[in-house]
Amino acid sequence: MKVQENQIECETLLDAGAVLEKLRRSSLYKQFHWLESVPSTQAVAKQIGEENAPHGTLVWAEYQTEGRGRRGRVWEAAKGENLIFSLLLRSSFRAEDLFWVTACLGLAVCYGLETVSGLAGMIKWPNDIFLEGKKVGGILTEARFDGSLTRYIVSGLGLNVNWNPQKDKEMPYPVTSVSREVRECIKREDLLGEILQGFERLFSFLECGNRRSIEEAWLSRFILLGKRVLVIGDGGEFECTVTGLRKDGALLIQRSNGTEEPVFAGDVSLRM
Ligand code: ATP
Repeated sequence: MKVQENQIECETLLDAGAVLEKLRRSSLYKQFHWLESVPSTQAVAKQIGEENAPHGTLVWAEYQTEGRGRRGRVWEAAKGENLIFSLLLRSSFRAEDLFWVTACLGLAVCYGLETVSGLAGMIKWPNDIFLEGKKVGGILTEARFDGSLTRYIVSGLGLNVNWNPQKDKEMPYPVTSVSREVRECIKREDLLGEILQGFERLFSFLECGNRRSIEEAWLSRFILLGKRVLVIGDGGEFECTVTGLRKDGALLIQRSNGTEEPVFAGDVSLRM
């Protein structure tokens, strides 16, 4: 480990065997693709979703050349320092319930962060993970439908673990990594294992119809409740107060004139 002023450098390749060992009792994770460099794990997972890869396939990469966030945005990551993966799930969800898959992965990341770093991960609706008030990760959930139900779902994570986000990178908000906050290198195998185990547990609740417990846990990590935010959409931007979350994952906001209305994840970005 090399420590410079405000910089911790700890690049190593992931020990996939250590992760597999941690998951040996899992009944979800059936197939693993450990890749060195790909354009996008999300694209690979969707491609194998079209073929016959099983439910619970993990596509993991050390490096992505075309990582994406929501609304076609770029996801940055450095080789050997972050966690980047996409999970293929062959579960049947209606479009209005898909938000809760993102919620399960977000909660699993928060719990994993807490176990490994001692710091509480928080969630900025709909898909961002925050640590100490700064963005540390993002989730992207996409799906292919047969009629009104998903044929498969791909839920992906980009998490800044041992990365030093460059100050000169244009980000619209403060960005951090786990190592930057705890001032030491994080064993990515431990964090990945924790996240995947946590997701398996939470997702099984969701599939058993126990969404209530996921909702309660998610709301306790929701950093926007009661806050003033700027909503940025294609039609312009406006300020409002966040009042809650609807069952379909839409954010409930109150305009300055007192009217309450939902905003949808596919349409807007938020600034705190
Ligand atoms: P927001 O609504 O906050 O603008 P988003 O949810 O639309 O974010 P994401 O899908 O989470 O966006 O990710 C894309 C955005 O995240 C990029 O536009 C960039 O600003 C930011 N970003 C890209 N790479 C990283 C990274 N490694 N860590 C933190 N933020 C990043």
